[in-house]
Amino acid sequence: MGEELKEVGEFGFIERIKGYSLVRPQGVIKGIGDDASVFEAPSGKVMVLTTDMLVEGVHFLPQTDPFSVGKKAICVNLSDIAAMGAEPMDAYISVAVPKRFSLRDLEDLYRGINEAASLFSVNLLGGDTTVSPGPLVINVSMTGSAPREEILYRSGAKPGDFLYVTGYLGEARAGLDLLSQERKWQENKARRLLDAHLRPTPHIREGRLFATSGFASAMMDVSDGIASDLGHICGESQVGAIVREEWLPISQILYDYCKDFGLDPIEIALGGGEDYCLLATVRPYGCETLEEAFARQLGKRIWKIGWVTEDKRILLVRKSGEVMPLPVSGWDSFRCWG
Ligand code: ADP
Ligand code: MG
Repeated sequence: MGEELKEVGEFGFIERIKGYSLVRPQGVIKGIGDDASVFEAPSGKVMVLTTDMLVEGVHFLPQTDPFSVGKKAICVNLSDIAAMGAEPMDAYISVAVPKRFSLRDLEDLYRGINEAASLFSVNLLGGDTTVSPGPLVINVSMTGSAPREEILYRSGAKPGDFLYVTGYLGEARAGLDLLSQERKWQENKARRLLDAHLRPTPHIREGRLFATSGFASAMMDVSDGIASDLGHICGESQVGAIVREEWLPISQILYDYCKDFGLDPIEIALGGGEDYCLLATVRPYGCETLEEAFARQLGKRIWKIGWVTEDKRILLVRKSGEVMPLPVSGWDSFRCWG
């Protein structure tokens, strides 16, 4: 633990973060500084609450810069809020600070937290601070809200609905591969993959658009890889799905990367994970209107990747026309334990 951190102390540090914790003060009665926060529940809406923990060496590589870790911790929670179709509200952050951390490191972590929180109007209303004899551990809990009828669950998909994703797949996995394999690659292209891995963008506005459109039937965020995540929607909705390989949004950069390093872009796109875009099912009659709404209101496109079936299998139609079971190879914390 750096000298300055010992001097500032836990409570001194909490005082510092208190200063910039409120970016949306309406409804907040007590933020940081008491035994618990106090806030008004938004009237006419339901609250959603999610929590996500990042452990150094498990969810990010050891010695990753603290700014990126802080920002990502907020963004992965924002992505869960987005996946419910809700508007984010407040965050609670618990950190176990490794002995090697200086005051500067901890401030960098909170700069990252603050950047993402300000961008999406999220207050920091509390947390817990302790030391770690080992890795950095950061846990974020986040609340959000939306009208009850707008919330989108994993369980609402119906046969005939189309499957959509809101972003390119596999780039985050390639970014992780680039770092962990210590590969050298063209700077500007490498940057995009690294950003996808270290600085994912939560799709809050996209989630709200699906939620308010009245055309979406189920939604989740892509954290473990489409193959695994689609399995959750199908399982909860008691349906199956067909995904068309030729419809998958795979960027030229990912193709180039895979070609240069002998990887399979389809495998990475389907199983890579950490894309933090949204996977939604949309009623067939709403597809065109929704695609137009994305273009008009957000200046973005969404990608139709397949459709929902009554037959409970999840199948992949290859470019060759061959039909095969969608290989499930996403991230599973217990199974990946090595
Ligand atoms: P207690 O011992 O009652 O849990 P703490 O001394 O841990 O209280 O925390 C004091 C205040 O500072 C509380 O409002 C708590 O939520 C907040 N807090 C503590 N650590 C953090 C942190 N890392 N980030 C944000 N708020 C924090
Ligand atoms: Mg207390």
